[in-house]
Amino acid sequence: MTYKDKKTCKLLTVIISLVIILTACTPKSTEQMIVEQDDFVLGTVGKIRIYADDEKAGNSAIEKAYARIVAIENTMSTSIEGSDVYNINKNAGNAAVEVKEETMSVIKKAIDYKELTNDVFNIAIGRLIELWGIGKDWQKVPNEEEIQDAKNHIDITQVELSGNNVMLKDPDMLIDLGGIAKGYAVDEAARVLRENGITSGFVNMGGDVYALGSKPDGTPWNVGIQDPEIGSGDVIAKVGLIDESIVTSGDYERYFIEDGVHYHHIIDPETGSPTRNELVSVTILSQKSVDGDVLSTAVFVMGLEEGLSFIEGLEDIEAVLITKDKKMYATSGAIDRVEVLNPEFQLQK
Ligand code: ADP
Ligand code: MG
Repeated sequence: MTYKDKKTCKLLTVIISLVIILTACTPKSTEQMIVEQDDFVLGTVGKIRIYADDEKAGNSAIEKAYARIVAIENTMSTSIEGSDVYNINKNAGNAAVEVKEETMSVIKKAIDYKELTNDVFNIAIGRLIELWGIGKDWQKVPNEEEIQDAKNHIDITQVELSGNNVMLKDPDMLIDLGGIAKGYAVDEAARVLRENGITSGFVNMGGDVYALGSKPDGTPWNVGIQDPEIGSGDVIAKVGLIDESIVTSGDYERYFIEDGVHYHHIIDPETGSPTRNELVSVTILSQKSVDGDVLSTAVFVMGLEEGLSFIEGLEDIEAVLITKDKKMYATSGAIDRVEVLNPEFQLQK
């Protein structure tokens, strides 16, 4: 992916939110049947729905896909004892840890993304994630001193890579792959389904979706963008996808409210606190979910204007941003693909 310095960014209003599959799948001119399984993985309720020749083959492919996701979770989770990331963090300042090849490649990709995103995407912010504890038992608003202290330990140049070894040179640093591993897992699940002969279906891991092939009648999978209002599960817009990923990050996914203020899980490394700007959600369309996962988080931190022009400058990536005042903005390649279903949300052209 290359970054083009395109200044002619046309702001197109669109909305977005969490992604929901809208389609009622009725097999058309095919003998195939729908097979579906939900499972609690990656801290979310996952859904895999595919077309298969028979139930047994379909279930077997889905089970292999889930097994792949669980293996990635066991490797890249910060909290699962013995995972690569757990071991790296436990040995911070002390020893290099040998990790799986795929962990190394995800870490390398994440580090590359830090530069590409002007530092807003930073896997070395583990200390801040830990401090805020959003979604965890210990979530609370830290004091300024604690925030400053954690911010002193997010310098990614302290992550030393050599062969398959990772060492955090700063003993007070933690890494966190929460903004990239889910997308990687979705891509891998789709790959496993393909490997098992599946040509049509989708993988949905709580807002990270991959649409595999088309529906059996050749039409795209329709994926919905969720109303970003907290508590609403409504779909406000939809996009058709064939062999493509759609990922949404929103401030309504994981958060707590203290003294009337809403604190969510996307941290701005510059302030050390949950991002505060005009956005409520960012949806990214891309070939791979891993890119969508990173970029949805990064654009959320960048905010409306910078985020839109940043995505305009990336090839093969499109975005739909929703603001607090219910406006939708889409990049030029997405504007004609978004169908608004709720007229309260205005697509800005
Ligand atoms: P979700 O996991 O709900 O899909 P996101 O994809 O937006 O949400 O990722 C948020 C997660 O990414 C956080 O829970 C945290 O683990 C991590 N994270 C938060 N802020 C950043 C950041 N600035 N850079 C990198 N990772 C981040
Ligand atoms: Mg994500």
